[in-house]
Amino acid sequence: MLWRADQGVSFGFAVQDPIISAVIVLAQPALFGVLAAVVSRRARMLFRRDPQNPQAAQFFHHWATIVLRVGTAAGFAASVFFTSWPDWFDFRKTSCFLQVVGDLITVLPFVASTIAVWIGAFPLERDIRREGLLAVTGVEETSRKDWKLSSYLDFHIRHHILIVAVPMTVIVFAFNVTDGYEEKLRSLTGWPWMPDILVGVAALAVFVAAPLMLKRIWRTHPLGTGPLRDQLHSVCDRIGLKCRDILVWNSDGMVINAAVMGIFHRVRYVLLSDGLLEAMSPREIEAVFGHEAGHVSEHHMQHFLVFAYVGSLIAGGVMEGLLRIALAAGHDSEMTLYGIQAVGAGVTVILWLWGFGWISRRFERQADLFGARCVSPPAAACHVPCSMHLGSSGELPGTGRVCATGAAVFASALDRVAVLNGIPHEERSWRHSSIATRMRFLVSLSGDPGRTRRFERLVLFIKRGILVCAVVGSVLAFFYYVYWPEPPAVVRWVPVRIQALTP
Ligand SMILES: [Zn+2]
Ligand SMILES: [Zn+2]
Repeated sequence: MLWRADQGVSFGFAVQDPIISAVIVLAQPALFGVLAAVVSRRARMLFRRDPQNPQAAQFFHHWATIVLRVGTAAGFAASVFFTSWPDWFDFRKTSCFLQVVGDLITVLPFVASTIAVWIGAFPLERDIRREGLLAVTGVEETSRKDWKLSSYLDFHIRHHILIVAVPMTVIVFAFNVTDGYEEKLRSLTGWPWMPDILVGVAALAVFVAAPLMLKRIWRTHPLGTGPLRDQLHSVCDRIGLKCRDILVWNSDGMVINAAVMGIFHRVRYVLLSDGLLEAMSPREIEAVFGHEAGHVSEHHMQHFLVFAYVGSLIAGGVMEGLLRIALAAGHDSEMTLYGIQAVGAGVTVILWLWGFGWISRRFERQADLFGARCVSPPAAACHVPCSMHLGSSGELPGTGRVCATGAAVFASALDRVAVLNGIPHEERSWRHSSIATRMRFLVSLSGDPGRTRRFERLVLFIKRGILVCAVVGSVLAFFYYVYWPEPPAVVRWVPVRIQALTP
């Protein structure tokens, strides 16, 4: 696939000895397993000291696990770049159709390290979850909830490995095959970027069909008929959400969450986890459902796709400009190209880490607002001081109003999701603000219609901004590729590369 050997990169200090290579690669899973067990032991000690207050243990474990994960990734990168491991599974000479098997074998040690880290972390995670459930439900654990290692691993492998591995295998297969027939495809069609287009089409097809895969990779079944299903269907009707089915997501109580997947309603599913259905009231389930429905109704996924397109235009533009400068200066070596590709990759990483993360956190808050509005009661049932229902004389006019009762129901649902999932309230992530921030934000919106209006204007501005960038970028790209007097740099460079690659 994209290993060192195919890219023609080689390092003078790479280990060539097969036995040393094998030891370096195969010792990693054992090493990370031991490290994870040490971390877990220490975290359990912290946890046992004060079981009611698991934050210290969680905080330590969270950061130690991040370090371990970075370690496994770095270890794998070292295996790929500095040992002869990936070269053993280069099956391209035999058949480009077979290469996907070689690629899967190459990543196997990384998968094993990842699993070893989970095995190490298991006892702590079980203890924390048990305590969290006890605190919320007040009931002793049923035997069903007391996880077994096998079901814990089954869950993690499905949710963290297969979910990436299955679609990626299809895309890598498409990549290997188009790569194998690269020159034929180019000469047949006369388009230098034909192989890239085919890989893009395959990736898009995988993306559209992803919900159908996911439904099977995760353990799911349709939500049975009953009052909850009727209640959720009436929410769908009220907000105009179409989906193919509402599914229960079987996770042995490990997931307390909901999700919507699918861009098109024919392949769109709403997922409610078994843990969510067991631990929360129908009203809270409706709130969580409303959050997911908000993502669909506000077209967040579509905007992310356009964002990805804009990101690729920006990275492509930067690389095209640099390549143009490099070619003009007479640099057309492979190393120049790797340098430019590295800059392109760097630009992409920055766009996603900062740009996507920032936008995603705003979209999450908009979905929270949508969820709160979903569970807002009629005026007669709102008994708290509320900027939407002052007195019980119906709704006050004006935009930006959020019912205080709706906001409180939503905030309590968020709180329970955090506690049941064992997420510290102040923990923030790339895509989500912390639960505490989200709760405070929502409650402040319910008391301040002006702030709500400003927030909604900001989100609208973000969405329009993404669309405007896409249109302007497309027009610029079109003129650059079609009307520019000189051919684009990549077109001038492709023949150089083909020449360099043919012996
Ligand atoms: Zn969300
Ligand atoms: Zn109200």
